[in-house]
Amino acid sequence: MATAVDTENPLVEGLERLPVHPTALVIFGGTGDLAHRKLLPALYNLAHEGALPERFELIGVARRDQPDEDFQGMARQSIQRFSRTKPDPDVLEGLINDTRYVPGAFDDDNVYAQLIRTLDEFDERAGEQLDRVFYLSTAPQFFPVIAGKLGAAGLNRCETAHTRIVIEKPFGYDLESARRLNAEVLSVFDESQVFRIDHYLGKETVQNLMALRFANALFEPVWNRNFIDNVQITAAEDIGIGGRAGYYEGAGALRDLVQNHMMQLLALLTMEPPTAFEANRLRDEKLKVLEAIVPPAIADVPSMALRAQYGPGVVGGHRVPGYHEEEGVAPDSRTETYAALRLHVSNWRWSGVPFYLRTGKNLARKVTEIAVTLKPVPHLAFQSQGSVGVQANQIILTVQPDEGVTVSLGAKIPGPRVRIRPVNMEFRYGTSFLSESPEAYERLILDAMRGDATLFTRNDEIEALWGIIDPILTAWHEDTTSLIPEYESGSAGPAEADQLLDGDRKWRRL
Ligand code: NAP
Repeated sequence: MATAVDTENPLVEGLERLPVHPTALVIFGGTGDLAHRKLLPALYNLAHEGALPERFELIGVARRDQPDEDFQGMARQSIQRFSRTKPDPDVLEGLINDTRYVPGAFDDDNVYAQLIRTLDEFDERAGEQLDRVFYLSTAPQFFPVIAGKLGAAGLNRCETAHTRIVIEKPFGYDLESARRLNAEVLSVFDESQVFRIDHYLGKETVQNLMALRFANALFEPVWNRNFIDNVQITAAEDIGIGGRAGYYEGAGALRDLVQNHMMQLLALLTMEPPTAFEANRLRDEKLKVLEAIVPPAIADVPSMALRAQYGPGVVGGHRVPGYHEEEGVAPDSRTETYAALRLHVSNWRWSGVPFYLRTGKNLARKVTEIAVTLKPVPHLAFQSQGSVGVQANQIILTVQPDEGVTVSLGAKIPGPRVRIRPVNMEFRYGTSFLSESPEAYERLILDAMRGDATLFTRNDEIEALWGIIDPILTAWHEDTTSLIPEYESGSAGPAEADQLLDGDRKWRRL
């Protein structure tokens, strides 16, 4: 498939620096929900931007038996329904009309034999070996199965092109399973071939966190224990588990959001400046800071972590059931729908600064943000004039929705007296850049095809992430008797979470 290169487009600017070799992308789980809603629409938008390589071939693999044409029809519909831009019929057909489908169970050798035939046919037609990207968009129990079968079929290497494997989340269920999965995958592929997805890292606003820190002289001088009082990271959702009890009962808030997305935000916020925005330099810095977060002893977990479950309540004007009344949830379930933690980064820069993390379902509003609160000024000269409104400066990075950065300042209220109140200085993505941000998956698929692992999680990093969370999971698993607090749906979460905050600090209002 031929695609034009649009040099005006920011995605394409990157492409010019690192051209994408002709590629065959194989999506295992090509008929699944993620492929349907995210991956296929992302591929369409890359094609639309002219960011796909000149020769690009797509293969879907899944269980149901169907011809290529049915898969093509499904892909067309997914793109028409979920693409962020209205599909151009020519671009859409260019992407879809030669797409192939390989039916069969992931543990069936015939699947891999047919894959080899199809990939060889593409290579012959191209007159060269295409790079191969295997995207594992399947339930996690199939990750080692597929990696093993790819290795057994000799699909883990190419003679004259690159082979890469992209692995969806969750990567592991706890530290031990993550180690096992790493060992299984790395017995077949080299680490340089493995791309572990945390789609948060593909979000523009998450990358902007690095731009904010490292492209501005303004913030870095205060980015340490001398000036920062505390940091709060919030990932609040205003929906319950919906029909996903099957998944959620086995996961819970800590695994679902904290271990991956929120800890990634924490790492990017606290790491030392990398010497280059290059995969291993960046990931080395993230690893160092993650290793500086000392995992809690099991006995200390109750004083630094809190779990809770939503009860009934009103969200967005609708009455909603409590977690235990949701379909598919065990009546005695102890799975947390809310988790809050207090962590410390034990290094020179951050010693003594508490990092508070909280996430929950069915909360008052949907927001993902990082709030960095600076220390108060050392002396307030305006006391006698009445300065009740003076607050410590805050830098708020909003990841979603309404992405942007807010800096709160103290300003004088107009009038004869010197009275201070907080005002906000705001940067909003939506109004500052008139173009629409690409979806995280667009960036990540393109990076995987280019072999750029900067925004993917390395093996040691994933184990460091689980290492911090594992004792909390163990402590909660072992504690089968103590009461799990319930919070009203539509509220800001359980009152008990206040106990994690030191001194007179408060959670930011939701
Ligand atoms: P899904 O809707 O359940 O899709 C599963 C896919 O695997 C389908 O294509 C299914 O084929 C295929 N499949 C299942 N068992 C198979 C077998 N034994 N042999 C061959 N094919 C088999 O799952 P999903 O929601 O797309 O999630 C995929 C992965 O992405 C998971 O790891 C998930 O955690 C991750 N993820 C998903 C989302 C999301 O929004 N959905 C977001 C983030 C991460 P048939 O349709 O033919 O049965």
